[in-house]
Amino acid sequence: MRSNPFTGRYLFHVHTPYTDGQVPVRAYFDLAVRAGLDRLIFLEHIRAAPRYDVTQFVAEVRGCAAACGVEALVGFEAKVLPGGALDISEEHLALAEVLGIAEHGFPADFDLWRASIRRALDASYGSRPVVWVHPGLWLKKHGLLEAREQEYLALLALAQGAGVKVEMNRRYGLVPGHLAGEVAPEALVRGADAHRLEDAEAAVAEMRSASG
Ligand SMILES: [Zn+2]
Ligand SMILES: [Zn+2]
Repeated sequence: MRSNPFTGRYLFHVHTPYTDGQVPVRAYFDLAVRAGLDRLIFLEHIRAAPRYDVTQFVAEVRGCAAACGVEALVGFEAKVLPGGALDISEEHLALAEVLGIAEHGFPADFDLWRASIRRALDASYGSRPVVWVHPGLWLKKHGLLEAREQEYLALLALAQGAGVKVEMNRRYGLVPGHLAGEVAPEALVRGADAHRLEDAEAAVAEMRSASG
């Protein structure tokens, strides 16, 4: 397995029409060529029983990478289920070069949420990079980010202790900017969570202005 892919000019966490994104796989590669990116890291939604052809998605990414001469990784964004398991099959986990752990559609039960996230962050997923994406989205959606900040910080620390990277998610503003210092620089990754081409282009523009 490669070393850290979250270095240089990378665009991470992009969605395509295979799920709820509006940007075809090829269009991300065209952007990567235009912008001189080093690497595309796809992070497509997955379920244990996905409603799209995962094999076709992976083949399309590989084909475009070869045709465009742009490095690309295939990742999947899997949601945490009550209890802490991820909603992804072993077959598809095996295809994931990057694994995203997400909070989507989780029941409105704080203790269950915390226990499940803890277990998910602490589990072993092999040697692939694992990223807690839009961390704390459940808290944000329930208006609990402030009231549960201590528990949130403990989870951010747990993630880093377990070797899980933490996303600075552009779409949801998570990790909140004032808490970004709680994440070690080597654990922090930028995620566009792009669904439209404008999202991806804006993320690339911000990366350029940040790196000077
Ligand atoms: Zn998500
Ligand atoms: Zn996403």
